[in-house]
Amino acid sequence: MRLILLGPPGAGKGSQAKVLCEKFKTPHISTGDMFRDAYKKGSELGRMAHDRYWGHGALVPDDITIGLVRDRLSQNDCREAGFVLDGFPRTVPQAEGLEKIVGELGQRLDRVIYMKTSQEVILQRLGGRRVCKVCGANYHTINMAPRVDGVCDTCGGALHQRPDDTEETILNRLRVYEAQTAPLVSYYNGKNLLATVNSDTPVQGTYVQVLKVLGVQ
Ligand code: ADP
Ligand code: ZN
Repeated sequence: MRLILLGPPGAGKGSQAKVLCEKFKTPHISTGDMFRDAYKKGSELGRMAHDRYWGHGALVPDDITIGLVRDRLSQNDCREAGFVLDGFPRTVPQAEGLEKIVGELGQRLDRVIYMKTSQEVILQRLGGRRVCKVCGANYHTINMAPRVDGVCDTCGGALHQRPDDTEETILNRLRVYEAQTAPLVSYYNGKNLLATVNSDTPVQGTYVQVLKVLGVQ
């Protein structure tokens, strides 16, 4: 299965990718996670991408992002099992870059799932999101509260707010989404790859719709 999850920040791409990858046994490719990991590890590229771009809600330049994805999709696990892309492509040049990469590997994309989400739900989800500093598990102060306030259920780690989940940066990410990423909806519709689901629903409700458009149980 070779899938793209497309949608605004807060659509729940990460949560859907997690359950879909468990079901289809495919690698979960999140460019956001790749940038956060690189930053945590303190590499030059990781720090530069944070300080200049994603720390302010701006996109990392296409050539850097496409290069990262090319390296990742060329690895054996993706060649064999396919992939679920979460947060890539985010611009038309990235979509063109992906088409080239996939073509070079002798593959085709199966589907692009557009996770349509209302502005109200997006703001509510991102404002309340909390992430475990140790294991990366996601919580929400209201929708998915941990058993003990500020503590991860799974590993006991401290929960924090993602640095780009502050109000000002969220608004910037939404503007960037509208300008640069939203055009991909008609781009993939034109290629007959698009399927739309309503992502205002909780994870399970969206998952049921995704399986339905993929024609699997
Ligand atoms: P969200 O979908 O909630 O905005 P992500 O975890 O997907 O969050 O991405 C976090 C940040 O990483 C983005 O705001 C952007 O700055 C950077 N980023 C992630 N994916 C890409 C991409 N494909 N192209 C450019 N920048 C990206
Ligand atoms: Zn944890």
